[in-house]
Amino acid sequence: MVVFSQLNENQKCAVEDKHNHIRIIAGAGSGKTRVLTMRIAYLIEKMNVLPYHILAITFTNKAAKEMKSRINEMLSDKGVGCHISTIHSLCMRILSEDIVALNYPRNFTVVDADDQKQILKEAYKLVGIDKKEYAYGSMLDYIADNKYQSINPSKAMEYTYGEPRLINKAKVFAYYQERLEKMYGLDFDDLILFTTRLFDENPVILEKWAKRFHYIHVDEFQDVDKEQYKLIKQLSSFHNNLYVVGDPDQTIFTWRGADVNIITNMDKDFKDLYTIILNENYRSTNNILSGANSVIKNNKARVEKDLYSNNGAGDRIIHKTCFSEAAEANYVANQIIKLRNDGYNYRDFAILYRSNYLSRDVEKVLLENRIPYVIYGGLRFYERMEVKDILCYLRMITRADDLALIRIINTPRRGIGQKTIDAIQEIANSQNMTMYEVLKAGLYPKNKDTFDHFVKMVEKWRNDVQTLDLELLLKEVLDDSGYRTMLEAENETERLENIKSLLDDIKEYSEDYPDSTLDDYLQMISLYTDRASEQVYDSVNLCTIHSAKGLEFECVFVIGLSEGVFPSEKTLSEGLKGLEEERRLAYVAYTRAKKLLYVTESSSFSYVLQSSKLPSRFIKEIDSAYIEHVDDRVSPISSPIFDEDVVINTRVNKEPKDDMYRKGDIIIHKIYGEGVILSNDNGVVSIAFPHPVGIKKILASHPSIRKKTKDDYS
Ligand code: ATP
Ligand code: MG
Repeated sequence: MVVFSQLNENQKCAVEDKHNHIRIIAGAGSGKTRVLTMRIAYLIEKMNVLPYHILAITFTNKAAKEMKSRINEMLSDKGVGCHISTIHSLCMRILSEDIVALNYPRNFTVVDADDQKQILKEAYKLVGIDKKEYAYGSMLDYIADNKYQSINPSKAMEYTYGEPRLINKAKVFAYYQERLEKMYGLDFDDLILFTTRLFDENPVILEKWAKRFHYIHVDEFQDVDKEQYKLIKQLSSFHNNLYVVGDPDQTIFTWRGADVNIITNMDKDFKDLYTIILNENYRSTNNILSGANSVIKNNKARVEKDLYSNNGAGDRIIHKTCFSEAAEANYVANQIIKLRNDGYNYRDFAILYRSNYLSRDVEKVLLENRIPYVIYGGLRFYERMEVKDILCYLRMITRADDLALIRIINTPRRGIGQKTIDAIQEIANSQNMTMYEVLKAGLYPKNKDTFDHFVKMVEKWRNDVQTLDLELLLKEVLDDSGYRTMLEAENETERLENIKSLLDDIKEYSEDYPDSTLDDYLQMISLYTDRASEQVYDSVNLCTIHSAKGLEFECVFVIGLSEGVFPSEKTLSEGLKGLEEERRLAYVAYTRAKKLLYVTESSSFSYVLQSSKLPSRFIKEIDSAYIEHVDDRVSPISSPIFDEDVVINTRVNKEPKDDMYRKGDIIIHKIYGEGVILSNDNGVVSIAFPHPVGIKKILASHPSIRKKTKDDYS
């Protein structure tokens, strides 16, 4: 049953309003999604509308799933049959029924990002151009722009006006389009474009769909683009019932074509448009809400909103400065453990970041502390393709096992195909050797130059590992292998960031454990990947801010809030527009929090930025009344994460030397300093450190501890 008492007066009016065209403009957490969901339930339960006649468009699949389950909860099975999905899924549904009218088969292929790149590769070869000069990303933008402006390849060629660079681009576009057409393939933009064209050219089909959807609802309307808007208008053209909700301050997809003017100027398209404003925030405490508002106020291009909350003042936003990214991650884990002891569940926490590469340190600390976590819309750090590739390169130096070799022998491309790999493997099996040994011994007769060069490169690293520190070795691997150049050539910014983050990782590791070897490092990493696939219901949530849209959590940590990271350097170079979009992103991030909000950053050197870091302006812009600053950089000893009964740190590197420590021995820990062994229990030693560290349990084999020697006394 729909319980309307759970709505305030304004929201209730919004649910029941009878206007045909309704726009709800309201700030974060004011109940827009809740009202939209309730409205659907209301239409079904009170207005006897058939679910089949209701359409709701959400921004993500996750949001669609949540909305469906909310409606099913309220109406039992009476709500089944509503079409609730993203706009792309809706198009897929429409096209799979009616694309035949455009002379395409029903089982058309959806072309994803990887397929697109494959097609570009072919095109570049044919046109005779290089990805170093024509980055894939900008080529895809060029293609999308043309398509969105209905410019076909021959028109695009006309518009080149003989300019050689543009001619090459137009040629690639022509190949791309032809290739797609031949395979009956549709890229994501096509899904929308084909549907609007289908409707433009086939009024009967349009009428069929427009007649089906009596009531159309769109959540997150501030992030629709022009073509999507056209589609929405087409679909609502018969019954004229359109209900949109959005917050212009949360437009964060302009870079993908979103246009905030669509929601703000909608009254020009619909003269009868009725606008409803919701101004009570139900999500956050006042400190969080006012803090977020004080940031977004700095945007010039916006309409001021009057949002208040009755949730009480709550705790102030906490700003924490740490001396390194690892310390920042430790701090976050520390707080999670403390708050969990106070009654929070893991699922109440979200750790949000501007870019994917920022998850690395946090993931490590969570794994070390056995805190379960899930990453939305992305892979765990050590599972990312480029990170795995590079780790396999490093394995060539230590073990040169077949799996590592197979993974990287043709990445970057060296003209080695599956047949060659199979042939080498066969020789290896018959000779009882590894594949690398076969290559090194010159037992494979073909591709001699390529393999000689490859072996020479690996042997050089094997030699250098004796003298170089791990960070320099990794840099050498990235350069010699051509891996870094490959990513640069393909303009793979995100992958490059992950690689730089791996450089930071190995650097931190060698600083923490100066005596460790490459093998130690790789073993340590394998500990992090082992438990990677565990699915636990009660998990901490990790995701980029873009993926956190529409969601809410009791406690939010926004990490990596350094100038150049967030706001990102790239957007800063785009001027005021870029900066304002970043600020909206900060607003989205802060307003995900219900009770507690932490903004954290660190001052260490960053490979990604190539400099030391400073706090983000989005921290400074939080009004001082709502924020508390904590800075632990004076003392490098972070407070202990563990209570006495937990084994700290799973970075196990060496065989346990169980009997090395005895009760009463004095040891030295790399970070905590001097301590006394209290007991040694099968290789796990309890050590008492001076206040504030206390008692820790550590593996006897852990490289961070050693016995105090005579030299230490002198
Ligand atoms: P965003 O802009 O982030 O998408 P929103 O405007 O869609 O936010 P909702 O997610 O719908 O906001 O609501 C925020 C929170 O407030 C939810 O937990 C929702 O259940 C709760 N809420 C909304 N209205 C009320 C109400 N009248 N009484 C109690 N709780 C409410
Ligand atoms: Mg919402």
